[in-house]
Amino acid sequence: MVLENPRSPLVLRERPVPAPGPGQVLVRVRACAVCRTDLHVVDDELPDVPHPVVPGHEIVGVVESCGAGVSIERGARIGIPWLGATCGHCRYCLAGQENLCDEARFTGYQLDGGYADYVVADARFCLPLPEALDDLHAAPLLCAGLIGYRALRMCGDAKRLGLYGFGAAAHIVAQVAAAQGRECYAFVRPGDAAAAAFARSLGCAWAGGSDESPPFELDAAILFAPVGALVPAALAAVRKGGTVVCGGIHMSDVPAFSYDLLWGERTVCSVANLTRRDGEEFLALASQVPVRSTVQVFPLTAANEVLARLRKGRLQGAGVLVPSDAG
Ligand SMILES: [Zn+2]
Ligand SMILES: [Zn+2]
Repeated sequence: MVLENPRSPLVLRERPVPAPGPGQVLVRVRACAVCRTDLHVVDDELPDVPHPVVPGHEIVGVVESCGAGVSIERGARIGIPWLGATCGHCRYCLAGQENLCDEARFTGYQLDGGYADYVVADARFCLPLPEALDDLHAAPLLCAGLIGYRALRMCGDAKRLGLYGFGAAAHIVAQVAAAQGRECYAFVRPGDAAAAAFARSLGCAWAGGSDESPPFELDAAILFAPVGALVPAALAAVRKGGTVVCGGIHMSDVPAFSYDLLWGERTVCSVANLTRRDGEEFLALASQVPVRSTVQVFPLTAANEVLARLRKGRLQGAGVLVPSDAG
């Protein structure tokens, strides 16, 4: 399913199966989860989206063949995440911050992704998947889970944690946070009773509209909804010394707000991308918790419909696409 032009529906195209180049693996896709970032790619909200491009960066598949220099076993199951390649020599790569690499390339954005039957990927950036996770439930962990985990780490030891936007990422983070003994407070679109009930069913201590105040001051909050107006709202909800973490790659403008909201050593920061280390740590943690992702499964050819549902907030948990021959 190919994005051929900015802000246009994806189109189904037949292409030859790609051949893996040196250092690459050819992977037969078994499942690819749908991420909000895919909407930002389609909507041309990220810089220099190339066209045509195949979206999708939460890929679970099996290795079909390897290019020169790669020795992964044929049939091995792997995950292909958003971070597709880094330079390995910039100041960030050398400092263990490859998520900030100056020349990073991202799956389903600058590199063709997993809305397809086959994909090639740099073998060094593929993640082994714990056996306990099946294909469909592992797929959303590869971005929603990973970014959520990185955002959660930035909250330090916060006990009362706000989650703004209760979609794919939040429903996974809530489970990890609960296992760590934290209390989650879920903020959903005002009036979305189903999302609030879903949040409570996953152990959130409270769920309400993003226009409501939580019953207690929060120690930290993570924003998954790409809505800049939630930054001052979240700052107003966190205590002195608290942190607001922005988890999305794109957000509408943050409105001007009174300095009082930031005063008291409150912090606002963003989370960008992932490192391979995040991937290894989080996937191990996810099978240990264990995280049970809620998925809604669709055929690959329904990609446009799934994106439309995500845009309207009509997906519970994560949408996952499966190629028609994947059974
Ligand atoms: Zn680099
Ligand atoms: Zn993503």
